[in-house]
Amino acid sequence: MDSPKFGLQIMSQVLDTKIMFLKGVGEKRAVLLRDHMGLDTFRDLLMYFPYRHEDRSVFLTVSDVNPGSNYVQLKGKFRNIQVVGGGRAKRLSAELTDHTGVIECVWFNGISWLQKTIKEGALYIVYGKLNVFNGKMNISHPEVELETLEQQTGGKLQPMYSIPEKLKNRGINNKLMVKLTSALIGKLTSRDLPEILPQKVLSAYRLPNRAEALFSIHHPASDQALQSAKRRIKFEELFLDQVRMLQTKKVRYTVSRGLILKNIEGVFTEFYKKGMPFELTDAQKRVLRELRNDVLSGHQMNRLLQGDVGSGKTIVALMGLLMAVDNGHQGCLMAPTEILARQHYKSFVELLAPFNIEVGLLTGSVKGKERKQVLKGIDDGSIQILIGTHALIEKTVQFKSLAFVVIDEQHRFGVEQRSKLWKSESGAPHILVMTATPIPRTLSMTYYGDLDVSVIDELPPGRKEIETMHFTENNRLKLFGFIKQQIKLGRQVYIVYPLIEESEKLDLNNLMEGYHGLQRDFSKSEYTIGMVHGRMNQEEKDFEMKRFVDKKTNILVSTTVIEVGVNVPNASVMVIENAERFGLAQLHQLRGRVGRGEFQSYCVLVTTNRLSNDGKTRIQTMLQTNDGFRIAEVDMLLRGPGEIEGTRQSGRPIYLLADLKSDGKILEAARASAIQILESDPELSNPENLALGVFMKNWKESSVDWSKVS
Ligand code: ADP
Ligand code: MG
Repeated sequence: MDSPKFGLQIMSQVLDTKIMFLKGVGEKRAVLLRDHMGLDTFRDLLMYFPYRHEDRSVFLTVSDVNPGSNYVQLKGKFRNIQVVGGGRAKRLSAELTDHTGVIECVWFNGISWLQKTIKEGALYIVYGKLNVFNGKMNISHPEVELETLEQQTGGKLQPMYSIPEKLKNRGINNKLMVKLTSALIGKLTSRDLPEILPQKVLSAYRLPNRAEALFSIHHPASDQALQSAKRRIKFEELFLDQVRMLQTKKVRYTVSRGLILKNIEGVFTEFYKKGMPFELTDAQKRVLRELRNDVLSGHQMNRLLQGDVGSGKTIVALMGLLMAVDNGHQGCLMAPTEILARQHYKSFVELLAPFNIEVGLLTGSVKGKERKQVLKGIDDGSIQILIGTHALIEKTVQFKSLAFVVIDEQHRFGVEQRSKLWKSESGAPHILVMTATPIPRTLSMTYYGDLDVSVIDELPPGRKEIETMHFTENNRLKLFGFIKQQIKLGRQVYIVYPLIEESEKLDLNNLMEGYHGLQRDFSKSEYTIGMVHGRMNQEEKDFEMKRFVDKKTNILVSTTVIEVGVNVPNASVMVIENAERFGLAQLHQLRGRVGRGEFQSYCVLVTTNRLSNDGKTRIQTMLQTNDGFRIAEVDMLLRGPGEIEGTRQSGRPIYLLADLKSDGKILEAARASAIQILESDPELSNPENLALGVFMKNWKESSVDWSKVS
């Protein structure tokens, strides 16, 4: 994993000091802290932010406490300290009294230590969660401090650090952590934590300087100071990341010369005039112009094309590839699955048949002699357009002259991945990344912040909005009736199941069962049912898909292998079984398999009666909107950004504090000011930006040579 982006890796001798030399640590604890909490140096400790703070400024009296109280802080003396109960109910009980009343405190662990420590008659501060047990209030496992001690540690907002349970009995508890962080902060000055954000930015967004923020994140003087500190740290993380991405983009723009694809008088124009099966939408035309400008600029194109399912990205990609062909180069398109690659291949071959273009296919299942031949064609340039899966990026694949690359439906490809794709010596190919799962703006800024973005925000004309319905399992008969009715009208139906793993222990309808059930139900009719799933080999899958495309089967039962990109305009019903088991992005993708022709289409979500809250939200969202962007936003709120479509593997930074789910505003501000600063001072050499410039220079990426990123 990348080292954290937060600017603390700045060189500093003090911060590199081993934690052992901090007062209160010592050798034994140093080992524990290092081995179990990853805290080795002062820097590590400073970056070990508390997960929350407790307000210790408010004291209640015992009579204030009521059954509705949550955490309470009281001041009083203990009496009747005794061990009560036995076995698992064995506990230490003590009565806390103040001048207003008595409340019981109980502890189930550490009894003998507490017995030795807590003295009757001394004045304590007690902090803990109120419980109501059999109608009686008590506080279980409160923290207890002598009043004087509390005054030493001082702060009103007490930082709470996460500490592994097993260390707590070995002297490493929150109290110690509080002591250590205050000792550390006592040792540091703002010289040890020099500012790297330009002063202008600080004042524009009213951010505290970094030393102040780092001190306050541990020991804030007030809640306001804490909030400002957090905002500053989040801002810095996001800002530095944006600056880096924008610099990358700039470097690439100036360093990576792009092939100029000037000529479009050949196939491109001919296809446009004679081969185009429909009139392009305005949005498609606009994107095409953007691509055109890019390939004429002399710089390498790096463009993200966002367009909802069915918006017609493929034809735009095809036109891009033809620009390469017209200039004597090659183009390739990489699809995420074999089925999709084959489908693209088939439709490209058909569309290009009149134009004498050599289209090749390379996937994992292209083997032996056939593979050799394809590889040869790529190498000698006779294959002009290559379609394939990840097999395209294997070392054995050597293009004669690759000029245009399309990556379809691959949000899995972040900056780092893309950088590894084409290390072409002979000039970088133009890159078009296409995605149908619209990702929330915050994510596209962080994952694709280095790309130019095009959007197809318009569906081809004549499309009818897909109608989405929700059926629970006991309405199955009605559902079957509906399916039959659609088939009678000449339409075709997908039925998708979430899994086919026999090992899956959950009692779900799996594909096979569903398939057999359907066969029973439909056996007396003339309807035919096909099946596609991940365990079938390529030939079997192709055979079934072809039968469906050729309208030989009315119903296609499938796992999610058909999820992305499959295009059968006559299919008008998408039934999703156990819909509650799918994520929103997936549901939206699946729904996008219908509504691709002139017919009114339907998406039927079948679920059990009992849905989790998240499940309900997902179903409701699907019923309420067809807008992929809205769905993506909800998806992110439900799952968190880390779970969105494989972004976890994409190698993007994990921020210490910033949360893309809730910090969209800070991110917008950080990106805006990064853009502004780099525009006015590209080299970051003006005095006010110098510290930032030096920091960025020292911030070496471990594995990637950014100037070569393509
Ligand atoms: P996606 O953006 O999801 O990849 P596709 O490129 O597969 O969408 O296009 C979806 C369907 O719409 C295809 O059948 C395609 O032929 C058709 N299509 C694309 N553009 C147009 C257009 N301008 N007019 C009519 N149909 C179009
Ligand atoms: Mg597509």
